[in-house]
Amino acid sequence: MPGEGLDDALAAATGMADRGISTLLTLLGEDVTDQEQADEVTRHYLDALTAISHRHLPTHPSVKLTQLGLGVNNALLDVNLDRLAGAAAEVERLIWIDMEGSASTAETLEAYRRLRERHDNVGLCLQAYLRRTPSDLQSLVLLQPRIRLVKGAYKEPAAIAFQSRGEVSSAYRLIALQLLEEAGHGHPPPTLATHDVELLRSILATAEVARDRYEIAMLFGIRNADLSALVAEGHRGAVLISYGSEWAAWYLRRLAERPANLMFGITAALRR
Ligand SMILES: Cc1cc2nc3c(=O)[nH]c(=O)nc-3n(C[C@H](O)[C@H](O)[C@H](O)COP(=O)(O)OP(=O)(O)OC[C@H]3O[C@@H](n4cnc5c(N)ncnc54)[C@H](O)[C@@H]3O)c2cc1C
Repeated sequence: MPGEGLDDALAAATGMADRGISTLLTLLGEDVTDQEQADEVTRHYLDALTAISHRHLPTHPSVKLTQLGLGVNNALLDVNLDRLAGAAAEVERLIWIDMEGSASTAETLEAYRRLRERHDNVGLCLQAYLRRTPSDLQSLVLLQPRIRLVKGAYKEPAAIAFQSRGEVSSAYRLIALQLLEEAGHGHPPPTLATHDVELLRSILATAEVARDRYEIAMLFGIRNADLSALVAEGHRGAVLISYGSEWAAWYLRRLAERPANLMFGITAALRR
C-alpha cells in the first residue's frame, strides 16, 4: 500500500500515470453492517472520482459490493452503484466490481447484471479458480461484459473451486483465451490481472489479438518491474492500488484464510 489515505493512493496513481500505467483504486474493508456505513463508502468513492477527474488521472474505482450494501439491503446497493456508475460516466471513468468470497458470487453477478442494464461503464472481476466461472461468463455474454480475470484470492472448498496451481492456471488460460477471442470480435478489452508472467506470456503467444484489445494488471508494489517491462514492449498495463485505515484487519483476514498469501508477501519484499 502507498499509504492509508486517498491522497496517498492518488499520489501513487500519478506516479504510475507518468510511467504510462493506468490504475484502479480500492478502499480496503468489506461486510459493512448498516446503511450509514454503505453510504459513507459511496460518498468516499464519489469524492475519489472528483479528485481523479481534477487530476486528469487514468484511474477507476474498484469497489467491493459488501461495502456498498450487499447483504444488508440490495435496493440500497443498487442505489449506491447507480450513483457511482453515473458519476463515473460523467467523468468518463469506469466502475469496477471486485469479486469477493463465494458466499457473495451469485448476488454480485446479479447486481452487475442489474447495473449493466443501466450503465455501459462497468467492469466485473471473475475468478478462474471457481468451477462455475465458465458458465457465469456464458450467461453474461449477451451483455458484452468488461471482465477482469483473476485466479482468485479466497479460501474456497474443492467442491466449488480448483485447488492445485496447475488446475487454476489451466482454467485461467482457457477463460483468458476466450475473452481475448471475444475482444477480437468487438467485446470490451479484458483485463488479465495476474503476476504470473510466464502464464501471461504463454496466453498472449497463443492468442492472436491486437495489443489494444486487452490490458495486463498487477497489484501495487508487486512484480511492478515485470509490468513496466511488459508496458515497454507495448502492452497496456494497469495497477490496483489498495488503501484505507482498515488495512491491518483486511490483510490479517486474508492471511488467516489463505496462509499462501504470506509467502507471496515475503517473496515480494525479498524481490524488492
Ligand atoms: C489487479 C488485480 C485485481 C485483483 N482483484 C481481485 C478480486 O477482485 N477478487 C479476488 O478474489 N482476487 C483478486 N485479485 C487477486 C488474485 O485473485 C490472486 O489472488 C493474486 O493475483 C495472486 O495470483 P496470481 O495470478 O498473481 O498468480 P500466482 O501464481 O498466485 O502468483 C504468481 C507470483 O506472483 C507473486 N505474487 C502473487 N500475488 C502476490 C501478492 N499478493 N503479494 C506478493 N507477491 C505476489 C508471487 O511471486 C507468485 O509466485 C486481484 C489481483 C490483481 C493483480
